Amino acid sequence: METLINQVRLSLIQGDITEQDTDAIVNAANPSLMGGGGVDGAIHRAGGPVILDECNQIVAKQGRLPTGKAVITTGGNLKAKHVIHTVGPIWDGGDRNEAELLASAYRESIKLAAERNLTSISFPSVSTGAYGYPLDKAARVALRAVVSFLEEKPTSLKEVNFVLFDSSTYESYCSTLKELI
Ligand code: ADP
Repeated sequence: METLINQVRLSLIQGDITEQDTDAIVNAANPSLMGGGGVDGAIHRAGGPVILDECNQIVAKQGRLPTGKAVITTGGNLKAKHVIHTVGPIWDGGDRNEAELLASAYRESIKLAAERNLTSISFPSVSTGAYGYPLDKAARVALRAVVSFLEEKPTSLKEVNFVLFDSSTYESYCSTLKELI
């Protein structure tokens, strides 16, 4: 499914984000930036050790990455030139600022891409795996954050993809996007 927002193509795709050839792909990382399971593990496996090297340098310099923030590294062996690592919130019932922190993870990531003059970026569904964020709620927060960023003002970005691994995640994002536009 796709739509145009302020002349930017927003697409929902079912697939593996490590195969995307956008300028950047976003990693649902954890604050240590040490790699892990899920999409994080898949990105480090496909991209090779140079990504972890850069992550370690970032942590040595600025400490662990706080929830809702984002940093950028090379894409290593990936088709994508860059990986933007962000940390989504762990779901804890919904009263611990989870929605704002999840929106911030998307906003900080897309902002970083625009600051670097990138033209395309792919997001996974941050926080809805090991971090347990309810899918429909996460889809609404994610799409709202990205759509409002794109509506605000024109940037270098021309293409924004959500690359959703399984069909239930894909369906949830599709029905949420239909409601939003
Ligand atoms: P978090 O810890 O933020 O919840 P996870 O990696 O556990 O992150 O899960 C986030 C989402 O990423 C889940 O929907 C999971 O199915 C999905 N995912 C796992 N591997 C990939 C991949 N290669 N490409 C895209 N999405 C993936």
